Amino acid sequence: MARTSHKAELPSKICLTCGLPFNWRKKWAREWENVRYCSDRCRRSKSSTAVSSAAKKNPIIFTPDVDAS
Ligand SMILES: [Zn+2]
Repeated sequence: MARTSHKAELPSKICLTCGLPFNWRKKWAREWENVRYCSDRCRRSKSSTAVSSAAKKNPIIFTPDVDAS
C-alpha cells in the first residue's frame, strides 16, 4: 500500500507589488488563476502608488520650466 501525501506541494506565485513569493491559499481556490498579489494591501497599492496619486492630485507640481526670456 503506497500512500502519497504531498502536503507541501502547493502552487506558488510571485507578488507583482512586493516581489515576494506566496503560496496557494484555500480562500483563493476558486480564483487562483487571477491572483497576482500576496495580500489585499499589495493589491490595493498597485493602482494607487504614491507617485501616480500625487500626480493626479497636484498636476501643477509637474509643470515644465518655462523659459520666459
Ligand atoms: Zn505582496
